[in-house]
Amino acid sequence: MASVVLGIDIGGTNIEYGLITKEGENLYSSFLKTESIESIEELAQNLKEEISPILKKEKYKLHGIGIGAPKGNYLTGCIEFAANLPWKGVVEINPIFEEVFGVATILTNDANAAAYGEKMYGVAKEMKNFMVITLGTGIGTGFFMNGQLQHGSHGNAGEMGHITIDPLGRECGCGRLGCLERYASATGIALSAREKIEFYKGSSSLSKIAPSDITAKNITIAAKKGDPLALELFDDTSKILGKALANITTVLDLEAFVFAGGLAKAKRIITEPTKRYMDENLMEDFKSKVQIVCSSLLAENSAIFGAAALYWNEEKGNS
Ligand SMILES: [Zn+2]
Repeated sequence: MASVVLGIDIGGTNIEYGLITKEGENLYSSFLKTESIESIEELAQNLKEEISPILKKEKYKLHGIGIGAPKGNYLTGCIEFAANLPWKGVVEINPIFEEVFGVATILTNDANAAAYGEKMYGVAKEMKNFMVITLGTGIGTGFFMNGQLQHGSHGNAGEMGHITIDPLGRECGCGRLGCLERYASATGIALSAREKIEFYKGSSSLSKIAPSDITAKNITIAAKKGDPLALELFDDTSKILGKALANITTVLDLEAFVFAGGLAKAKRIITEPTKRYMDENLMEDFKSKVQIVCSSLLAENSAIFGAAALYWNEEKGNS
């Protein structure tokens, strides 16, 4: 009988989940739409209804649950004031899942879970100092220094999505203006496209889409086909992101940034210009030393693996 952990990545758009073995094999995965879930109780119940028949049919034993979520606090087991989720304020997670499933549950920040996944199973296996950046609905960052995941003094380390890049800029879900994630996330590039397309004189396949319907996915597909507007949008986005990463590099002197999340699916279309702009903005002795790579778990979601791996390694409630 295979023993599995239910790894869950709660995102602003989708809630992805998988049944992960201790060796890091994903035996089943699927997702729910975040906006369709009104409460955590409903989420736990829906997931139970989804996976119970699979556990029964395949004779898997559910060992525990690992959850990654924006503003998920490992210490309190609560999601606290997440800007991009429908559930507001402080939302209790662990006791609800423990009651519904009858197994122990751990929660952590989604980007920390992604960083843990890359360290255990992905491109960062051999790295000691690196940062995983999830470019999704928002921007999440989780980082390792000297081989250890960093939580900070209050469990809040790695909120790079909310560094200010324009004090008079776009409104952010955190209540402030001009945060990085309003420009350099999947949501951010779509907002930039809607602003830009109105004044764009050239020919672009994006012009055929109603501005309000343009998504990062549309832009990525167009860019891969060489669409000039889509490539310009990636260049603008990379310029903002590259400057931010130069600032982070100046403080942390990392060996690599690992891109994950929806926008990372553009691969070299985002990594190459971001690296160029980062190097342009770095002091001489930092230049060309920091790699920018994409997650090797992109197709599968590193946060699901990381949340499960964190559980396996913590051995919480081991039974
Ligand atoms: Zn913000």
